[in-house]
Amino acid sequence: MQFSSSLLENAVNEFAKLPGIGKKTALRLVLHLLKQDSEDVEHFSETMSRMRNEIKFCQRCHNVADADICSICANSLRKQEMICVVENIRDVIALESTQQFSGTYHVLGGVISPLDGVGPNQLNIDTLIHRVQKEGTSEVIFALSPTIQGDTTIYYIQKKLPAETKVTTIARGIAFGGELEYADEMTLARSLQNRLPVDSYVSSR
Ligand SMILES: [Zn+2]
Repeated sequence: MQFSSSLLENAVNEFAKLPGIGKKTALRLVLHLLKQDSEDVEHFSETMSRMRNEIKFCQRCHNVADADICSICANSLRKQEMICVVENIRDVIALESTQQFSGTYHVLGGVISPLDGVGPNQLNIDTLIHRVQKEGTSEVIFALSPTIQGDTTIYYIQKKLPAETKVTTIARGIAFGGELEYADEMTLARSLQNRLPVDSYVSSR
């Protein structure tokens, strides 16, 4: 791509560094910004810069926050004695979008994966154990990816939790709208193991 302005070229190159954005899309976005009022573009860049500089991570659950404690942890209407353990912030956003969970979260920052050099010490596991012990948590729900690494992480953490804590995992099975014959054996087997009484299935929909 040839540019007659290095300012334009630099802006395109910055956008093209973003995931999923190629040079053409980057150019389209930059040309769009060029058409806006300069205050709007100022506001855009200031919003990005403030987000990066001022964002905090909740001291209790490691979710993103505007203060030391996130809005979920600070909400007295949520069941503080229930913790849903997830890998990352995107999982919190996905689960919150279902509007089906009224407890709190704990963001691990990944799962145990020795091949990728991720051990328990790189994750927020100690703070979870400490939190459960200190707060007398009644239930820990694991909502991790259904992979060997996810299962390893559940197994590792479960052994460290107090024996009286109820430990559960989200159901794993056939995707809604999926077809049985296309499900892999592992998924099908788990779906059978984790079968539900029809009343609870129907009433939860
Ligand atoms: Zn929090």
